[in-house]
Formats: sequence, C-alpha cells, structure tokens
Amino acid sequence: MNPERSTGFLDTLKASACIHCGLCLASCPTYVETGDENLSPRGRIYLMRAMDKGVIPTTQKSARAIDSCLGCRACEAVCPSGVHYGQLLEETREHLNRSVQRGWKETLLTKVFVEGILAHPERMEIALTPARWIKQAGLERFVPAALREPLSFVDKTRPNEQSLPALSHTTRAPKLGTVALVAGCVMDVMFRETHRSTIRLLLAAGYDVVVPQGQGCCGALFSHNGNMAEARRCAIKNLAAFNVSNLEAVVINAAGCGSTLKDYGPLLAQDPQWAPSARAFSIKTRDLSEMLEPESIDWRPSRFRKVTYQDACHLAHAQRITLAPRNLVKRVAGDAYVEMPESDLCCGSAGSYNLTQPEMAGRLRRRKTGNILSTNTEVVVTSNPGCLLQMRAGLQAAKNSTTQVLHIADFLAAHLPVETGI
Ligand code: SF4
Ligand code: SF4
Repeated sequence: MNPERSTGFLDTLKASACIHCGLCLASCPTYVETGDENLSPRGRIYLMRAMDKGVIPTTQKSARAIDSCLGCRACEAVCPSGVHYGQLLEETREHLNRSVQRGWKETLLTKVFVEGILAHPERMEIALTPARWIKQAGLERFVPAALREPLSFVDKTRPNEQSLPALSHTTRAPKLGTVALVAGCVMDVMFRETHRSTIRLLLAAGYDVVVPQGQGCCGALFSHNGNMAEARRCAIKNLAAFNVSNLEAVVINAAGCGSTLKDYGPLLAQDPQWAPSARAFSIKTRDLSEMLEPESIDWRPSRFRKVTYQDACHLAHAQRITLAPRNLVKRVAGDAYVEMPESDLCCGSAGSYNLTQPEMAGRLRRRKTGNILSTNTEVVVTSNPGCLLQMRAGLQAAKNSTTQVLHIADFLAAHLPVETGI
C-alpha cells in the first residue's frame, strides 16, 4: 500500500488489529446469506483499509459493500483480536458521505425521512398523520413504490397520547434511588405505551423515575449513517438535559439507542467542554434489563403457551447483554420458554437499513420469520423497536396472525402483580 495516497480517515491502529482469521464470518448475516467475502467483516475491513490508503478509489461501487453492512456488530462480539468494527464502520461511512454522490432515493430516505423526520418526535408525529389516514383508508397501493416500505411500519392507530411523567414518582417499595428515562425519538412517538410499561417496572423494582424535559434523539439514527457531527449535537443536547450526578442510572429501553448512549464518552472525547459529562453519562447508562432482578418482583403467572426471545443486535453484540433479558423472560414465562434458532442473528431491521437496503433486509426478515415459525411460539419478546416492527412485518407477510411480537417492557409489565396498583 502506498502511504502517500492515504486519505487517513481510519484509526489505522484499530483497523490493523484485524489479523484476517475469518472467525467472524459465520456470525455475519450478510456473509451467511450470500457466502460473498466482499460482504463479510474481513472483506469490508480490507476494503476500508484499502480506501483509507488510497489503494482502491472511493466510488459508488466500493461504497456498496459498506452500505450493505447492517452495523449489527456480531463480528465485533466474536473477534479474538478485539477489532472495534463499529468505530471503523462509522469512520468509513463518514468518509463515504463526504466522497460519494448518493442517488435521489437514498438521499430522500436517509436525509429527509430518517434524519429529517424520524429523529425529530414532533415532526414525526405530524408526518405520521397522513400515513395513518392512508393506511386506515387502505390506499397503500397508490403510494410511490419507494415509500411503501417505510409506510409498512406505521401503525394505523395513534398510540395512547397520555403524557409521560415529568416529575418524580414515589415508589411503594424501598427506594433504591432515582433513575431517568431516555424517551428517545421513534420510541417517544410510536411506543409511548412501552415507556409507561418501563416506568411501571422501574417503580415496582423500587426506583423513582424522572423523564427529563429537553431531551431528544440519542444520535443513533445519525451515527449509523456516518453523520457524526449531528450525532454529537444530539449527544450534547441530551447531556444538557440530564443531570446525572443525582441519578442512580440513566435507563433506556431501546437497544440501538442504549449502545449509542454508552458510546457518548468516545463520541465526545475530543470535546474539552463536554467530554467529562459524556463519560459520566455513559457510565450511568443502563438497559432496562440491567435494572431489574428477576426474583425481586412477585410476577403473576404467565398465560402464554410458548414464549421465545430475539436478541437485539445492539444489546447482544454491541453491549454484550444476553443473559439479563433472557433470565427475566424465563422467570416470567417459566416452562413456556423456548430458545429460537439463530436468535442472535440480525432480523434485517438495523436502524434505517430496512429502508435503504430493502433487498437484504427482506432476505433476513424472511429468514427470521422462518426461525420464529419453527418454534411454534405464541410470543416473541425483544428489546428494540426496530426489531419488533421488522418481525411483525415478517409475520404479517407470512400471513401469520397468531404470533405476537412484544417489547420486553410490555411483556414483563403485563405480569406485574395487580395489588401494587402501579
Ligand atoms: S475482524 Fe476479527 S475475527 Fe474477523 S477476520 Fe479480523 S481479526 Fe478475524
Ligand atoms: S456489522 Fe454485522 S453485517 Fe456488518 S460486517 Fe459485522 S457482522 Fe457483518
């Protein structure tokens, strides 16, 4: 490689940690689906390094292998050499954004729909209104083809609009401290009921819960697309909204957002003003499943015949949390719990991937649907809204109306003891 042609966008030390052993290949969904080395972690790292050194030009063609990566970080979790694949991916995507002209459809989806609307709860609420009318009137077939995929994820009905608490609640259990809930953007508009379930669970566990005003998108929708400047702006807005010194924990119920929040430290490491609070924020961030002890709540017996759990990639691979949610679901489901084949293989949702890469997302969705149906389960529990919508869409396409897909907070909250009144 010729160092004089280096464009130098990668952390070369981290990139050179890859020893090309190939142990990550069997965990990579795009490689498992295609058997194509170019669509494997090893192939992508090779390509990143070659573009970084200027050996391969940065073109639309070289961007395709990077664009097809789900960012699921399954490769990172199994890598014996400790390659920080997620960071390399973000650096490469930031470089591609600067260097490659995107087509109109991709720009419409990423810049207008995802970054311009989804990441802003108030805009999303307005944008969803006509989408809901279209679905209620059954007019989906008249919508331009490029918008049908995003439309399939919109609920026909508006979720219960009762507002979330802005003030502290008093718990009935011995107080373990005050925690703050991250409401997020997509979660706040489309999954408010899940937030209420989350608050009920935290109260039952013995925490006071606050939902700080002035917070917004965690930044994941931007960082996954390599828009790191906007991701940093989101992080700073949240740091200003949360006073973590008085909190036991910052709690998040969406795996993709949790992984971004836990990375605020490295994200703002070069910002002298915000680096200390970013580090403190990340240290205090916990997924909901990390806050609940399975035995500390007297759960009601489950009525479900069979229950399984789907690992959200950003919980299992990026945060390495697989046991805590499983133990909670198993505790509540009892003998009804079954494991699903390939439960830690990405479902194809991956943030906005199912919108920008519909072909591969569709293949992974069908694969996941097949695995769900093979368990003959009544309920699939998961920890991320994107996975939940993706699996619901897969089951709907398979004309299955008997299997429910539930967020772990809703599943657990449905089994809280009635007498707590929470
Ligand atoms: S990323 Fe890790 S597991 Fe994959 S080829 Fe490189 S060193 Fe091996
Ligand atoms: S992040 Fe996921 S899709 Fe991308 S290379 Fe790693 S395992 Fe494959």
